[in-house]
Amino acid sequence: MRFETRAIHDGQQPDLQTGAVIVPVYQTSTYQQDGLGVHKGYEYSRTGNPTRTALETAMASLEEGRFGLAYASGVAASAAVLTLFQSGDHVVVGDDLYGGSYRLFEKVFRKFGIEASYANIDDLGSFRKQIRKNTRLVWVESPTNPLLKLIDLKALSAITKNAGVLLAVDNTFASPYLQKPLSLGADIVVHSTTKYIAGHSDVIGGAVVVNDEELYQQLKFYQNATGATPGPWDCWLTIRGLRTLSLRMREHGENALFIARFLEGHPRVKKVIYPGLASHPQHDLARAQMNGFGGMISIELHDVAAVESFTKALKLFFLGESLGGVESLITYPANMSHGSVAREERYRRGITDEFLRISVGIEHKEDLKQDLENALAVIGA
Ligand code: PLP
Repeated sequence: MRFETRAIHDGQQPDLQTGAVIVPVYQTSTYQQDGLGVHKGYEYSRTGNPTRTALETAMASLEEGRFGLAYASGVAASAAVLTLFQSGDHVVVGDDLYGGSYRLFEKVFRKFGIEASYANIDDLGSFRKQIRKNTRLVWVESPTNPLLKLIDLKALSAITKNAGVLLAVDNTFASPYLQKPLSLGADIVVHSTTKYIAGHSDVIGGAVVVNDEELYQQLKFYQNATGATPGPWDCWLTIRGLRTLSLRMREHGENALFIARFLEGHPRVKKVIYPGLASHPQHDLARAQMNGFGGMISIELHDVAAVESFTKALKLFFLGESLGGVESLITYPANMSHGSVAREERYRRGITDEFLRISVGIEHKEDLKQDLENALAVIGA
Protein backbone atom coordinates (compact mmCIF):
# COMPACT_ATOMS: atom_id res chain seq x y z
CA MET A 1 0.00 0.00 0.00
CA ARG A 2 1.05 3.54 -0.63
CA PHE A 3 1.92 6.17 1.98
CA GLU A 4 -1.44 7.98 1.95
CA THR A 5 -3.36 4.72 2.49
CA ARG A 6 -1.01 3.44 5.18
CA ALA A 7 -1.36 6.73 7.08
CA ILE A 8 -5.10 6.14 7.37
CA HIS A 9 -5.19 2.38 7.86
CA ASP A 10 -2.03 0.97 9.42
CA GLY A 11 -2.43 0.31 13.14
CA GLN A 12 -5.97 1.67 12.91
CA GLN A 13 -8.30 -1.27 12.25
CA PRO A 14 -11.95 -0.79 13.33
CA ASP A 15 -12.55 -1.67 16.97
CA LEU A 16 -13.27 -5.41 17.23
CA GLN A 17 -15.97 -5.07 19.88
CA THR A 18 -17.97 -2.10 18.55
CA GLY A 19 -16.88 -1.55 14.95
CA ALA A 20 -15.84 2.04 15.77
CA VAL A 21 -13.72 3.15 12.79
CA ILE A 22 -11.57 5.42 14.93
CA VAL A 23 -9.07 3.98 17.41
CA PRO A 24 -10.54 4.53 20.90
CA VAL A 25 -8.75 6.50 23.61
CA TYR A 26 -7.98 3.72 26.07
CA GLN A 27 -7.96 5.94 29.14
CA THR A 28 -6.88 3.26 31.54
CA SER A 29 -3.81 2.76 33.65
CA THR A 30 -4.26 -0.97 34.14
CA TYR A 31 -5.96 -4.09 32.72
CA GLN A 32 -7.86 -6.96 34.27
CA GLN A 33 -5.88 -10.19 34.08
CA ASP A 34 -7.61 -13.51 33.47
CA GLY A 35 -5.35 -15.35 35.86
CA LEU A 36 -1.86 -15.15 37.27
CA GLY A 37 0.35 -14.10 34.36
CA VAL A 38 -2.55 -14.48 31.89
CA HIS A 39 -3.61 -11.30 30.10
CA LYS A 40 -4.67 -9.95 26.72
CA GLY A 41 -1.32 -8.35 25.88
CA TYR A 42 -1.61 -5.35 28.18
CA GLU A 43 -0.73 -5.19 31.87
CA TYR A 44 -0.05 -1.58 32.74
CA SER A 45 -0.18 1.54 30.53
CA ARG A 46 3.44 2.63 31.01
CA THR A 47 4.41 -0.72 29.52
CA GLY A 48 1.76 -0.72 26.81
CA ASN A 49 -1.56 0.89 25.89
CA PRO A 50 -3.69 0.04 22.82
CA THR A 51 -3.96 3.68 21.67
CA ARG A 52 -0.19 3.93 21.90
CA THR A 53 0.20 0.64 20.02
CA ALA A 54 -1.87 2.13 17.18
CA LEU A 55 0.39 5.16 17.02
CA GLU A 56 3.57 3.08 17.22
CA THR A 57 2.35 0.78 14.44
CA ALA A 58 1.37 3.72 12.23
CA MET A 59 4.72 5.46 12.79
CA ALA A 60 6.65 2.31 11.90
CA SER A 61 4.58 1.98 8.75
CA LEU A 62 5.10 5.59 7.64
CA GLU A 63 8.87 5.28 8.13
CA GLU A 64 8.85 1.88 6.40
CA GLY A 65 10.41 0.36 9.49
CA ARG A 66 9.51 -2.73 11.49
CA PHE A 67 9.18 -1.30 15.00
CA GLY A 68 7.87 1.99 16.36
CA LEU A 69 8.04 3.42 19.87
CA ALA A 70 6.21 6.50 21.10
CA TYR A 71 7.46 8.93 23.75
CA ALA A 72 6.15 11.86 25.75
CA SER A 73 8.15 14.36 23.66
CA GLY A 74 10.74 14.54 20.90
CA VAL A 75 13.41 15.17 23.51
CA ALA A 76 12.28 12.07 25.42
CA ALA A 77 12.63 10.08 22.16
CA SER A 78 16.17 11.42 21.67
CA ALA A 79 17.06 10.67 25.30
CA ALA A 80 15.67 7.15 24.85
CA VAL A 81 18.15 6.51 22.03
CA LEU A 82 21.01 7.68 24.24
CA THR A 83 20.01 5.29 27.04
CA LEU A 84 21.31 2.53 24.74
CA PHE A 85 24.86 3.63 25.61
CA GLN A 86 27.04 3.69 28.66
CA SER A 87 29.84 5.59 30.29
CA GLY A 88 32.92 5.59 28.06
CA ASP A 89 30.91 5.50 24.83
CA HIS A 90 31.29 8.23 22.25
CA VAL A 91 28.84 9.73 19.76
CA VAL A 92 29.53 11.85 16.70
CA VAL A 93 26.93 14.55 16.12
CA GLY A 94 26.29 16.68 13.05
CA ASP A 95 27.15 20.23 14.09
CA ASP A 96 23.87 21.89 13.15
CA LEU A 97 20.98 20.59 15.22
CA TYR A 98 18.09 21.47 17.51
CA GLY A 99 19.38 23.36 20.56
CA GLY A 100 17.56 21.00 22.91
CA SER A 101 19.34 17.99 21.39
CA TYR A 102 22.68 19.77 21.80
CA ARG A 103 21.73 20.47 25.43
CA LEU A 104 20.90 16.78 25.90
CA PHE A 105 24.34 15.72 24.65
CA GLU A 106 26.24 18.43 26.52
CA LYS A 107 24.35 19.00 29.76
CA VAL A 108 22.79 15.62 30.47
CA PHE A 109 24.54 12.64 28.88
CA ARG A 110 28.09 14.03 29.11
CA LYS A 111 27.56 13.94 32.88
CA PHE A 112 26.98 10.18 32.60
CA GLY A 113 30.22 9.68 30.67
CA ILE A 114 28.77 9.63 27.15
CA GLU A 115 30.91 12.03 25.18
CA ALA A 116 29.75 13.85 22.06
CA SER A 117 32.00 15.43 19.45
CA TYR A 118 30.76 17.44 16.52
CA ALA A 119 31.37 16.75 12.84
CA ASN A 120 30.99 19.34 10.12
CA ILE A 121 27.60 18.55 8.60
CA ASP A 122 28.88 19.93 5.25
CA ASP A 123 31.69 17.42 5.09
CA LEU A 124 31.17 13.65 5.05
CA GLY A 125 34.91 13.18 5.57
CA SER A 126 34.69 14.96 8.90
CA PHE A 127 32.32 12.22 10.16
CA ARG A 128 34.79 9.56 9.10
CA LYS A 129 37.58 11.39 10.93
CA GLN A 130 35.63 11.83 14.16
CA ILE A 131 34.76 8.14 14.53
CA ARG A 132 36.93 6.52 17.21
CA LYS A 133 37.27 3.05 18.69
CA ASN A 134 34.64 3.81 21.33
CA THR A 135 32.18 5.53 18.96
CA ARG A 136 28.77 3.87 19.09
CA LEU A 137 26.52 6.30 17.25
CA VAL A 138 26.42 9.01 14.60
CA TRP A 139 23.53 11.45 15.04
CA VAL A 140 22.36 13.87 12.38
CA GLU A 141 19.43 15.96 11.31
CA SER A 142 18.71 16.46 7.61
CA PRO A 143 17.48 19.08 6.88
CA THR A 144 19.04 20.58 9.99
CA ASN A 145 17.49 22.93 12.50
CA PRO A 146 17.83 25.83 11.83
CA LEU A 147 20.28 26.17 8.91
CA LEU A 148 18.40 23.67 6.69
CA LYS A 149 21.58 21.89 5.64
CA LEU A 150 21.34 18.43 4.11
CA ILE A 151 23.66 15.50 4.32
CA ASP A 152 23.79 12.59 1.90
CA LEU A 153 22.28 9.91 4.15
CA LYS A 154 23.17 7.01 1.86
CA ALA A 155 26.81 8.05 1.78
CA LEU A 156 26.86 8.68 5.53
CA SER A 157 25.33 5.26 6.22
CA ALA A 158 28.08 3.65 4.13
CA ILE A 159 30.59 5.30 6.48
CA THR A 160 28.78 4.24 9.67
CA LYS A 161 28.24 0.67 8.43
CA ASN A 162 31.87 0.38 7.51
CA ALA A 163 32.86 1.57 11.00
CA GLY A 164 30.28 -0.66 12.73
CA VAL A 165 28.47 2.25 14.42
CA LEU A 166 24.77 3.07 14.45
CA LEU A 167 23.33 5.93 12.43
CA ALA A 168 20.43 7.88 13.95
CA VAL A 169 18.57 10.49 11.91
CA ASP A 170 16.27 13.07 13.45
CA ASN A 171 13.70 13.25 10.64
CA THR A 172 11.51 15.90 12.26
CA PHE A 173 12.01 18.63 9.63
CA ALA A 174 11.36 16.37 6.65
CA SER A 175 8.68 14.04 8.04
CA PRO A 176 8.41 10.52 6.59
CA TYR A 177 6.35 11.87 3.71
CA LEU A 178 9.43 13.63 2.35
CA GLN A 179 12.23 11.34 3.48
CA LYS A 180 12.64 7.81 4.81
CA PRO A 181 16.06 7.51 6.47
CA LEU A 182 15.79 3.77 7.17
CA SER A 183 15.53 3.04 3.47
CA LEU A 184 18.60 5.25 2.94
CA GLY A 185 20.61 3.12 5.36
CA ALA A 186 19.96 4.66 8.81
CA ASP A 187 19.48 2.37 11.80
CA ILE A 188 17.33 4.64 13.95
CA VAL A 189 14.82 7.37 13.04
CA VAL A 190 13.83 9.91 15.66
CA HIS A 191 10.90 12.32 15.56
CA SER A 192 9.46 15.16 17.46
CA THR A 193 5.89 14.20 16.50
CA THR A 194 4.92 17.56 18.01
CA LYS A 195 5.76 19.03 14.61
CA TYR A 196 4.61 17.82 11.16
CA ILE A 197 3.41 14.37 12.27
CA ALA A 198 0.74 15.69 14.66
CA GLY A 199 0.64 18.89 12.65
CA HIS A 200 -1.79 21.08 14.59
CA SER A 201 0.31 22.56 17.41
CA ASP A 202 -1.86 20.90 20.01
CA VAL A 203 0.23 18.05 21.38
CA ILE A 204 3.81 17.26 22.42
CA GLY A 205 5.20 13.86 21.45
CA GLY A 206 8.11 11.88 20.08
CA ALA A 207 8.81 8.62 18.29
CA VAL A 208 11.62 6.26 17.39
CA VAL A 209 11.48 3.75 14.53
CA VAL A 210 13.97 0.92 13.93
CA ASN A 211 14.28 -2.24 11.83
CA ASP A 212 16.54 -4.32 14.02
CA GLU A 213 14.66 -6.47 16.53
CA GLU A 214 17.41 -6.52 19.14
CA LEU A 215 17.66 -2.74 19.05
CA TYR A 216 13.89 -2.57 19.39
CA GLN A 217 13.87 -4.89 22.41
CA GLN A 218 16.50 -2.73 24.12
CA LEU A 219 14.58 0.46 23.39
CA LYS A 220 11.34 -1.17 24.56
CA PHE A 221 13.03 -2.18 27.80
CA TYR A 222 14.27 1.39 28.46
CA GLN A 223 10.95 2.90 27.36
CA ASN A 224 9.27 1.00 30.17
CA ALA A 225 12.16 1.27 32.62
CA THR A 226 12.59 5.05 32.32
CA GLY A 227 8.92 5.73 31.67
CA ALA A 228 8.72 8.79 29.37
CA THR A 229 5.65 7.42 27.61
CA PRO A 230 2.79 9.49 26.16
CA GLY A 231 -0.74 9.27 27.50
CA PRO A 232 -3.53 7.84 25.35
CA TRP A 233 -5.08 11.23 24.53
CA ASP A 234 -1.78 12.51 23.21
CA CYS A 235 -1.37 9.34 21.14
CA TRP A 236 -4.90 9.76 19.79
CA LEU A 237 -4.31 13.38 18.78
CA THR A 238 -1.06 12.40 17.09
CA ILE A 239 -2.82 9.63 15.14
CA ARG A 240 -5.51 12.09 14.12
CA GLY A 241 -2.80 14.37 12.81
CA LEU A 242 -0.71 11.82 10.95
CA ARG A 243 -3.68 10.64 8.88
CA THR A 244 -3.48 13.88 6.86
CA LEU A 245 0.32 14.17 6.77
CA SER A 246 0.60 13.74 3.01
CA LEU A 247 -1.94 16.46 2.24
CA ARG A 248 -0.37 18.89 4.65
CA MET A 249 3.20 18.25 3.51
CA ARG A 250 2.28 18.87 -0.11
CA GLU A 251 0.62 22.16 0.85
CA HIS A 252 3.46 23.20 3.20
CA GLY A 253 5.95 22.55 0.40
CA GLU A 254 4.03 24.46 -2.24
CA ASN A 255 3.53 27.47 0.03
CA ALA A 256 7.13 27.44 1.25
CA LEU A 257 8.58 27.43 -2.27
CA PHE A 258 6.32 30.33 -3.24
CA ILE A 259 7.29 32.30 -0.10
CA ALA A 260 11.01 31.47 -0.43
CA ARG A 261 11.03 32.79 -4.01
CA PHE A 262 9.27 35.95 -2.89
CA LEU A 263 11.70 36.53 -0.01
CA GLU A 264 14.72 35.83 -2.20
CA GLY A 265 13.75 38.70 -4.45
CA HIS A 266 13.15 41.16 -1.61
CA PRO A 267 15.83 43.82 -0.96
CA ARG A 268 15.16 43.92 2.80
CA VAL A 269 16.03 40.24 3.16
CA LYS A 270 19.76 39.59 3.19
CA LYS A 271 19.69 35.84 2.79
CA VAL A 272 17.13 33.08 2.19
CA ILE A 273 17.81 29.42 2.89
CA TYR A 274 15.36 26.88 1.43
CA PRO A 275 16.31 23.49 -0.04
CA GLY A 276 13.86 24.04 -2.90
CA LEU A 277 15.71 27.10 -4.20
CA ALA A 278 18.36 26.61 -6.87
CA SER A 279 20.58 28.87 -4.70
CA HIS A 280 20.61 26.26 -1.89
CA PRO A 281 24.03 24.57 -1.92
CA GLN A 282 22.45 21.12 -1.64
CA HIS A 283 19.48 21.69 -3.92
CA ASP A 284 20.45 18.70 -6.10
CA LEU A 285 20.81 16.44 -3.07
CA ALA A 286 17.39 17.62 -1.84
CA ARG A 287 15.90 16.65 -5.21
CA ALA A 288 17.48 13.22 -5.05
CA GLN A 289 17.03 12.40 -1.37
CA MET A 290 13.67 13.97 -0.59
CA ASN A 291 10.22 13.79 -2.06
CA GLY A 292 9.74 17.59 -1.85
CA PHE A 293 11.48 20.38 0.05
CA GLY A 294 9.34 20.88 3.14
CA GLY A 295 7.81 23.84 4.88
CA MET A 296 10.81 25.40 6.64
CA ILE A 297 12.63 28.52 5.46
CA SER A 298 15.42 30.38 7.24
CA ILE A 299 16.25 34.01 6.54
CA GLU A 300 18.69 36.64 7.64
CA LEU A 301 17.78 40.31 7.84
CA HIS A 302 20.26 43.16 7.41
CA ASP A 303 20.31 44.34 11.02
CA VAL A 304 19.15 43.26 14.44
CA ALA A 305 16.79 46.24 14.91
CA ALA A 306 14.81 45.01 11.89
CA VAL A 307 14.14 41.68 13.63
CA GLU A 308 12.01 43.31 16.30
CA SER A 309 9.98 45.57 13.99
CA PHE A 310 9.50 42.84 11.36
CA THR A 311 8.27 40.15 13.77
CA LYS A 312 6.02 42.66 15.56
CA ALA A 313 4.41 43.79 12.29
CA LEU A 314 3.51 40.26 11.17
CA LYS A 315 -0.15 39.36 11.66
CA LEU A 316 -0.39 35.80 10.31
CA PHE A 317 3.08 34.50 11.20
CA PHE A 318 2.91 34.18 14.98
CA LEU A 319 6.18 34.75 16.79
CA GLY A 320 6.78 31.61 18.80
CA GLU A 321 8.65 28.37 19.32
CA SER A 322 7.93 25.21 17.34
CA LEU A 323 7.10 24.43 13.73
CA GLY A 324 5.17 22.06 11.53
CA GLY A 325 1.64 23.15 12.46
CA VAL A 326 -1.02 24.21 9.98
CA GLU A 327 -0.54 27.82 11.09
CA SER A 328 2.55 29.79 10.12
CA LEU A 329 5.09 30.55 12.82
CA ILE A 330 8.26 32.59 12.98
CA THR A 331 10.99 31.73 15.45
CA TYR A 332 13.97 33.71 16.67
CA PRO A 333 16.51 30.92 17.26
CA ALA A 334 18.90 33.20 19.19
CA ASN A 335 16.63 33.14 22.23
CA MET A 336 14.12 30.39 21.40
CA SER A 337 15.04 27.05 19.79
CA HIS A 338 18.79 27.69 20.21
CA GLY A 339 18.68 29.76 23.40
CA SER A 340 20.55 26.94 25.15
CA VAL A 341 23.53 27.26 22.75
CA ALA A 342 26.24 29.74 23.85
CA ARG A 343 26.38 32.88 21.66
CA GLU A 344 29.90 32.15 20.47
CA GLU A 345 28.97 28.63 19.38
CA ARG A 346 25.79 29.93 17.77
CA TYR A 347 27.76 32.47 15.72
CA ARG A 348 30.34 29.86 14.78
CA ARG A 349 27.52 27.88 13.21
CA GLY A 350 26.07 30.91 11.42
CA ILE A 351 23.01 31.51 13.59
CA THR A 352 23.38 35.26 13.97
CA ASP A 353 21.22 37.71 15.87
CA GLU A 354 19.61 38.67 12.54
CA PHE A 355 18.58 35.09 11.80
CA LEU A 356 14.92 33.98 11.73
CA ARG A 357 13.32 30.60 11.09
CA ILE A 358 9.95 30.44 9.37
CA SER A 359 7.51 27.55 9.50
CA VAL A 360 5.23 28.13 6.54
CA GLY A 361 1.70 26.97 7.29
CA ILE A 362 -1.09 25.95 4.98
CA GLU A 363 -2.98 29.25 4.92
CA HIS A 364 -3.48 30.71 1.42
CA LYS A 365 -0.05 31.51 0.02
CA GLU A 366 -1.10 34.95 -1.26
CA ASP A 367 -2.24 35.95 2.24
CA LEU A 368 1.08 34.79 3.66
CA LYS A 369 3.02 36.72 1.04
CA GLN A 370 0.96 39.85 1.72
CA ASP A 371 1.62 39.57 5.45
CA LEU A 372 5.38 39.31 4.88
CA GLU A 373 5.32 42.12 2.35
CA ASN A 374 3.52 44.42 4.80
CA ALA A 375 5.90 43.59 7.64
CA LEU A 376 9.00 44.03 5.49
CA ALA A 377 7.71 47.46 4.45
CA VAL A 378 7.73 48.45 8.14
CA ILE A 379 11.47 47.71 8.57
CA GLY A 380 13.43 50.91 8.82
CA ALA A 381 10.33 52.95 7.90
N1 PLP B 1 14.24 17.48 17.11
C1 PLP B 1 14.04 18.59 16.39
C2 PLP B 1 14.67 18.72 15.02
C3 PLP B 1 13.29 19.66 16.90
O1 PLP B 1 13.13 20.77 16.17
C4 PLP B 1 12.73 19.52 18.20
C5 PLP B 1 11.94 20.60 18.81
O2 PLP B 1 11.89 21.70 18.31
C6 PLP B 1 12.95 18.34 18.91
C7 PLP B 1 13.70 17.33 18.33
C8 PLP B 1 12.40 18.16 20.29
O3 PLP B 1 11.06 17.85 20.25
P1 PLP B 1 10.01 18.16 21.41
O4 PLP B 1 9.90 19.64 21.51
O5 PLP B 1 8.76 17.47 20.94
O6 PLP B 1 10.54 17.58 22.67
